[in-house]
Amino acid sequence: MLYLSTRGDPSRKRFCEILLEGLAPDGGLYLPESYPQVSDVTLNRWREVYHKQGYAELAFEILSLYIDDIPAADLRALCAKTYTAEVFGTGEIVPLRHLENGIWLEALSNGPTLAFKDMAMQLLGNLFEYELARRGEQLNILGATSGDTGSAAEYAMRGKQGVRVFMTSPQGRMSPFQQAQMFSLMDDNIFNIAVDGVFDDCQDMVKAVSNDLDFKRQYKIGTVNSINWARLLAQVVYYFAGYFQATQTSSEKVSFTVPSGNFGNVCAGHVARMMGLPIARLVVATNENDVLDEFFKTGVYRVRGSADTFETSSPSMDISKASNFERFVFDLLGRDGARTKQLFGDALQRSGRFDLSQHPAFNDVRLRYGFESGKSTHADRLATIKDTFERMGMMIDTHTADGVKVAREQRQDGVPMIVLETALPIKFAQTIVEATGREPDRPAKFEGIEALPKRVTRMAADAQAIKAFIAEKCQ
Ligand SMILES: *Cc1c(COP(=O)(O)O)cnc(C)c1O
Repeated sequence: MLYLSTRGDPSRKRFCEILLEGLAPDGGLYLPESYPQVSDVTLNRWREVYHKQGYAELAFEILSLYIDDIPAADLRALCAKTYTAEVFGTGEIVPLRHLENGIWLEALSNGPTLAFKDMAMQLLGNLFEYELARRGEQLNILGATSGDTGSAAEYAMRGKQGVRVFMTSPQGRMSPFQQAQMFSLMDDNIFNIAVDGVFDDCQDMVKAVSNDLDFKRQYKIGTVNSINWARLLAQVVYYFAGYFQATQTSSEKVSFTVPSGNFGNVCAGHVARMMGLPIARLVVATNENDVLDEFFKTGVYRVRGSADTFETSSPSMDISKASNFERFVFDLLGRDGARTKQLFGDALQRSGRFDLSQHPAFNDVRLRYGFESGKSTHADRLATIKDTFERMGMMIDTHTADGVKVAREQRQDGVPMIVLETALPIKFAQTIVEATGREPDRPAKFEGIEALPKRVTRMAADAQAIKAFIAEKCQ
């Protein structure tokens, strides 16, 4: 399997070459040259594999189609080490539970940080450690987080050989629970940096360091952001696992509703569908930051400025542009790299928008690719959380609530609608209390974490300061 860039560069790479990279050199995102096709026979076999041998073995089957530069025995061992009941709470790893009227919730949030990003990041940690050891290299991961990504990365990389994590976050802006989750890590290879500023200041520091190519090379600076292909690939697996739980035979179809921000999660659903998983609808649910809902409704993709990017009660979906969206548009345009480059490289830079409403392919968004969309507001979120709690006794988090709200609008009779549960309510307790008047349940292992000792370095929003810090820690 070879990988190409969405912006038309003629070079081709193998999986382990792109594993540790972010963007392709031409600014595009990596995708496989083609999507492996899954026959009915294979689908039936995978159903057995999942039910009899488990999620890790299913992951191995799917990943093997995309990764041919890691020996099979090693890849199987990496999957087995990652997807355990101990780390993810149950043997099913992603258990499905029924909500109402053919709407199901697929639990993706029982990993170490209680958000779905663990599903991919835990695998990434093991893949990184493996590949770095094989090359005899080190990697310093530098990132900016306002919550879920940073903690998922730290819990995936803690204690791993060859990797250090430097994670910046805006001082005092994360929820107490999120701060406690990150700052209580005492591993030698994890460095928390609380920046005097907002999230954008953190991101600017990371960008400034990454743009200093000499520093970047000398200190082997890397990232783990959501455009990483390996993360996306790991997420493809739970679309299959959800399908096998919701259906009896492989002639049935299901739909998925995905609480979306950067389009990483739902893009994995698109990949699963392109492989032949019988998905009827892929529903993109957004919050007030509705860049994606607007595109799917109108064909206009319009990036928001910071003044038009709202801070909401489903904060992990507060995005101004959707960094993985380029992957879908590349497929939509018949994999035309030159045209994708024009749209994402030129038009967005120039005017912050592009318009595909008159393009013949825009009809395919629905008809051929199955996409639908909807949005949810703070009031919707509160009403949905209150309703599912009062009528069904189920507490759901704010992001999942955005999904449930939109799923109710998009469900079809006879087609199971699976909503991906992207976080547990305890992470966003304040809004849950606002909606239900009750504190959400807290998994036992998180009892009292706010009182644990914290390890964090406070820093001015200054790229020089973080460079000096990294240099010191790498001695
Ligand atoms: C990251 C995140 C999302 C958005 O996922 P994307 O892949 O960026 O679309 C939704 N919900 C939660 C809880 C998240 O952490």
